[in-house]
Amino acid sequence: MFTLKIYSQSKKGLKHLSNPKSKIQNQIMSAPNIETIVSLSKRRGFVFPASDIYGGLGSSWDYGSLGVELANNIKQSWWRWLVYERDDIEGLDSSIIQNRLVWKYSGHETTFSDPLVDCRACKGRFRQDKLQDVRCPNEPSANAGGGKECDLTEAREFNLMFRTTIGAVAVEDDETALTYLRPETAQGIFINFANVLNTSRRKLPFGIAQIGKSFRNEVTPGNFIFRTREFEQMEMEYFCRPEDAVRIHQEWIDAFSEWFQSLGISKENLKLYEQSKEELAHYAERTVDILYRFFPERDEEEKQWDELMGIANRTDFDLKTHSKKPEIDGKRLNPDSTEDLSYFDEATKERFYPYVIEPAAGVNRLLLAILMDSYTEKTNEKGEKRVILKLKPELAPIKVAVLPLAKNKPEIVAMAKDLKKQLQPAMRAVYDDTGGIGKLYARQDEIGTPFCVTVDHESLEDEAVTVRDRDTWAQERIKVTELKEYLRKRLG
Ligand code: ATP
Repeated sequence: MFTLKIYSQSKKGLKHLSNPKSKIQNQIMSAPNIETIVSLSKRRGFVFPASDIYGGLGSSWDYGSLGVELANNIKQSWWRWLVYERDDIEGLDSSIIQNRLVWKYSGHETTFSDPLVDCRACKGRFRQDKLQDVRCPNEPSANAGGGKECDLTEAREFNLMFRTTIGAVAVEDDETALTYLRPETAQGIFINFANVLNTSRRKLPFGIAQIGKSFRNEVTPGNFIFRTREFEQMEMEYFCRPEDAVRIHQEWIDAFSEWFQSLGISKENLKLYEQSKEELAHYAERTVDILYRFFPERDEEEKQWDELMGIANRTDFDLKTHSKKPEIDGKRLNPDSTEDLSYFDEATKERFYPYVIEPAAGVNRLLLAILMDSYTEKTNEKGEKRVILKLKPELAPIKVAVLPLAKNKPEIVAMAKDLKKQLQPAMRAVYDDTGGIGKLYARQDEIGTPFCVTVDHESLEDEAVTVRDRDTWAQERIKVTELKEYLRKRLG
C-alpha cells in the first residue's frame, strides 16, 4: 500500500522523519503558481471575484459554470467513495445555524481563535502564525513582520466565529438572541449522533459524512480560494471503540492519501505532516495533516506546502461534552443537554463514549489543488503554447464537446446538435460552433474536456465522427452508433 512520508516540527520548518536525503525535486508538470490558476479561472469561467462590480469583498469568490461543475464532481466523488462504496457510513445535512449552546459546549466560544497582531507602521492586521503568507504592504517584497518598517504588536486572541442574531431583536447586540454561523460542519454531526444511531440501527464502528458551508472570520484570508471566510467542508466523523482508535486513525490517513492520488493529484505534491503536541487542538490526541504543494514558486522547499486536509483523533471529547452526563461529584458537566450520547454495546453489555476519527477536507482547497495539479502546457507543431487541464474524466466539468467542422453547413450543424442531445443523458456534453476547429480544441483542452467529437463533411456520408483525445491529441474515427458506448468506456 502507498504511504506518504510523515513530517514533523512546525509547518514552516518541516523535518523529514524517514529519509532525510530524499528531497522532492520541483520539476513537475503542474501550475507554476496560484496566479496562473486565478487567471485561467477568470478567463474560462471557473471562479470569479465576488461582488466584483462593487469593488469585490476581499476573500469572497463566486463559482462560474465550470467551477460549480468541478466542485459538484469533487463532492460527488467524495460522497460516492465514502457513503455509497463503503457499508459503514451514513450521510447527514445539518443546519448552518444551531443553538448557541452547541458552540458553548464544543469549546468554540472560548477557544476558536487565532493569534492576531497589528502593525503600527502599515496599520495592517495579520494572523501571527501565518505571517509568511502575507506581504508587507509597505515593502511588497517582504513578508508581513519581516520588513524593515514592520512594527508588530503583541499577539492577542481573536474569535473567528461570525456572530448573528436569531429572530426580530429589539437591540442589535441582544445576547439572548446571539448565535453563530457554523465554523465547521462537525458539531452538527456530534449533536445528531443519537438520532443517526437510533434510526440507522448502526453498530460501532461507523461514520457520519456531511458536506456543507462553514464560515470563519479569518484574520488574513488570501491566496485565492485557499483561505476564505466562507468555504465548504467535507467532514466525516468515524465513531469507534476507544481501543481501536489508533489503528483506525492510521487507516483513514492512508485511505485519504490514496484517494487524493486517485483524483489525479501527483504523489510528489502531497505529503503528511504530524502536528506537534503544542499544535494539537485541545480535544485531539493525534492529528496528521495532508499537505499539498500550493506554493511551488517559493525558493525554500519547506515553505511550498500548506494544509489540504486534517485527520484528527478527537477522542471521546465531543460526544462527552454534548451529553447530559457524565456527572462529577454529583454535578452534571453539561446541565443544558437533554441527551446522553454514550453507546451501549449489546454484545458486551458495556456503556461508553465512542472515540471519533475525523477526516476533514475543504472543497475549495481541494478544487485549487486539483486545478494546480492538472495544469500542463504543451507546444503544438506551430510552436504555440497550449494549456491542457489534465483533469480526471470523473472530475471534468464537461465530458465531451461536439463540434461541427463547418458551421455554415446546416446538415453538419444539425447532425452535431443531434449527437449532443443523444450523449447528454449519459454524460455532460456541450455543442460549440463559436470558432474555427483549432480554437475550439484549444478551448476544450484548457477547461479539461477529455474528448472532442468533430462532425465533418464525411460524417454525412459514412455516419462516423472524429474523436480527439485531450491528452494525446490523437484522433480516431468512430461510428455514430458506437459513439456513446465508446465514450462511456474511455471515460471510465
Ligand atoms: P488552517 O490551519 O489552514 O487554518 P485548519 O487546520 O483550521 O486550517 P480545519 O479546521 O482542520 O482547518 O478544517 C478542515 C479543512 O477545511 C482544512 O484542511 C481546509 O481544507 C478547510 N478550511 C479550513 N479553513 C478554511 C478557510 N478559511 N478557507 C478555505 N478552506 C478552509
